[in-house]
Amino acid sequence: MTVSRRSLLKWTGAVAGGSALVGTATTFIGMPAKADGLQGVDKTVMSSCNVNCGSRCPLRLQVKDGAIVRVLSESTGNDEIGTQQIRACVRGRSIRQRIYSADRLKTPMKRKEGTKRGAGEWEEISWEQAYDLLASELKRIINKYGNEAVYLNYATGTLGGTIACSWPPNQSPFARLMNCMGGYLNHYNTYSSAQITSATPFTYGKNLSNNSNDDAKNSKLVVMFGYNPQEVRMSGGGEMYVTTKTRKDHNMRTIVIDPRYSDTALAVGDEWIPIRPGADAALVAGLAHVLITENLVDKPFLDKYVIGYDEQHMPAGVPAGNSYHSYIMGKGPDGIAKTPEWAAQITGIPAQRIVQLGREIGSAKPCRIAQGLGPQRHANGENTVRSVHALVCMVGQVGIPGGGNGGHPGNFSLKMANPWIIENPIDTAISVFMWTDAIDHGPEMTKINAGLKGSKDKLDVGIKFIWNYGGNTLINQHSDHNRTIALLEDDTLCEFICVIDNVMTSSGRYADLLLPDVSSAEQKDIIKGGQAGTLGYTIIAEKAIEPLHNSKTTFEMCSEIAKRMSGDKWGDVLQKFTEGRTQDEWVQHCYDSSKADVPNLPPFADTVTTGIWKEQGPSLIQSKDFIADPVANKLETPSGKIEIFSKLLWDISKTWELPEGDRVTALPEYTPTWEGPEEAKTNEKYPLQMIGHHYKARTHSSYGNTPWMMEAHNQVIWLNPLDAEARGIANDDLVDVYNDRGRVRIPARVTPRIAPGVTSLPQGAWYTPDKQGVDLGGSVNVLTSWRPSPLAKGNPQHTNLVQVEKSKV
Ligand code: SF4
Repeated sequence: MTVSRRSLLKWTGAVAGGSALVGTATTFIGMPAKADGLQGVDKTVMSSCNVNCGSRCPLRLQVKDGAIVRVLSESTGNDEIGTQQIRACVRGRSIRQRIYSADRLKTPMKRKEGTKRGAGEWEEISWEQAYDLLASELKRIINKYGNEAVYLNYATGTLGGTIACSWPPNQSPFARLMNCMGGYLNHYNTYSSAQITSATPFTYGKNLSNNSNDDAKNSKLVVMFGYNPQEVRMSGGGEMYVTTKTRKDHNMRTIVIDPRYSDTALAVGDEWIPIRPGADAALVAGLAHVLITENLVDKPFLDKYVIGYDEQHMPAGVPAGNSYHSYIMGKGPDGIAKTPEWAAQITGIPAQRIVQLGREIGSAKPCRIAQGLGPQRHANGENTVRSVHALVCMVGQVGIPGGGNGGHPGNFSLKMANPWIIENPIDTAISVFMWTDAIDHGPEMTKINAGLKGSKDKLDVGIKFIWNYGGNTLINQHSDHNRTIALLEDDTLCEFICVIDNVMTSSGRYADLLLPDVSSAEQKDIIKGGQAGTLGYTIIAEKAIEPLHNSKTTFEMCSEIAKRMSGDKWGDVLQKFTEGRTQDEWVQHCYDSSKADVPNLPPFADTVTTGIWKEQGPSLIQSKDFIADPVANKLETPSGKIEIFSKLLWDISKTWELPEGDRVTALPEYTPTWEGPEEAKTNEKYPLQMIGHHYKARTHSSYGNTPWMMEAHNQVIWLNPLDAEARGIANDDLVDVYNDRGRVRIPARVTPRIAPGVTSLPQGAWYTPDKQGVDLGGSVNVLTSWRPSPLAKGNPQHTNLVQVEKSKV
């Protein structure tokens, strides 16, 4: 059987829905009867949207004759922050089109004997054959290479559930299975937040979020570096709602700094400051110069709480001239004063606007400065993160209401237990972005050249077996598709790939074995970590319909594999995996185990009846205890204080092996990078910087095949009118976007909503190459690079140079 990519984009509407159903009384399971929705359905079931947008929205599914006929939002709560109704966004409300997609995997399939991996030639097999093949390959590879050769690829398409959970990797059922028999190779960080997760502990001692979004009500001024909940977490009860409602109620002046006039800038911004991608640390340096020269620095705050701002507060053993003050004023090793004029030529922001912004930030008290995850997803993202930390310290805003620490906004969530997790006996971990390197040259990867973590200094073996459950990072969400495809086609490197998913994806195409998973509507689960500002919640998601086609739950799959892996070496793997419980019993066990940490949690039966249980938490004022008493409540940095200069990074900068041009710096300096704003000015072949913003149509690639989303938000590349005119491109023209890594053909959106010299191709579109390898789906990762960022070894997927021209076809 051959599955063509074209068929993936078609949806035939497999269920009849939308007709007015009248007659019998509605039975509500999990929710009290409400007048909303269709009348005459058989039941209305609480479920949830389990994708990786950061929200975990409840959904009520109306079922008639065994099919979902309508998707409703939840109906409890009101419009006040903390007790709000959690209204699903348009993506969640189109979930019926995902569940009944024609792209659903219907039965197990293996790569046809003798065909190339990725050729799309499949043979349907029974579940028994699939389990036997899987168990035999897993045993063969573990016996030959050891457990470290087995890898769970980053996958966030099934997020939020507990038993059916593809990320974090240690919570996946496949991790649990592997940990019953010796473990697997870990990864650390995420494709969303690698640089901020790695950099923040060097400033604050551990990964601390910012004050929560509702705290903006206490601010005089809000400054957002690339923060965009309006298009990312756009649930009516989530971060978008809290952000817009707080702005509406309190009217704080809000400035959004972003290469693109995002929907967040449109909704809450008083002003949009367009900036060149990857230049944020240069802007911060220019602002710091204004603060210093105009005497707007909070010196008492810096003296009391911070290391590294000036020469009087440096770690022992560091030569003079290495403070942030010296760096800014041109007294450091580079001898360059970071004046607004210096920052202007990097950022593209006029010097006078930088001066004004510096004065505003230095004068408005309290001032909330937050960063989204876009600015850090760059080749110099770690320093962008820490530069914003430095800025909030210079104006003394950490730990106070209305201020903040410069990080990504925080949320309140319930501290639900997870007894489902079994610890991995292996502690070796690669960066989440470097799995392709670990296939290609794993044994060459070390702590100092590849950021390997754990007790070992180097990998002994490359990745030979991949579990890819509920994710599209094998191809679609990983960088440089053409290079990745060439790597995966060679099955002498990674010898076996098992993809478990609901639908056929570009990642699924590179499987040796494809297993059809049920959707969230076809199984029971508990959603633990719901968070929406100060509102935390848990959902008991019921099984709405029977598994479609010949799909099975991952719990059943893992149990069957466990049965086959049981024996002398690992004992009774099945017993270790299930502990004698069914999936439904595990749901209750996880819930009941949470009562110790969430004392107000009602009895399980009560939450099954209501479907959702919410608890209002406090506004988060990050590090307020440290600010109240920095001696009694030291941070976990070496100095116990906030570290603008990090001695740990100083040491790393002297010991790590980095490719030419990469830098780790003890201060949050602006570091020019490959394919950054400077190179764009001199690169005649590829003069346009390209980012890949999150798009309302999709959560990464999830929902990317639903007809409603594709129609409402078609895939286009954003291009400034000046750049379009220079290339003879009009709005809606078909254009080729290309660099040395590949080529995409897609319509142009000519709009002043993007800075000149910058393009944006919304990330997550489904890779659909034609026979020449030109992607007609518009996947940004055709054009992004494998090269990791220096410290986090994270994905720099907004650091790209491209050319755009009118298509000749
Ligand atoms: S995509 Fe995110 S915001 Fe939208 S319904 Fe799903 S969880 Fe909620």
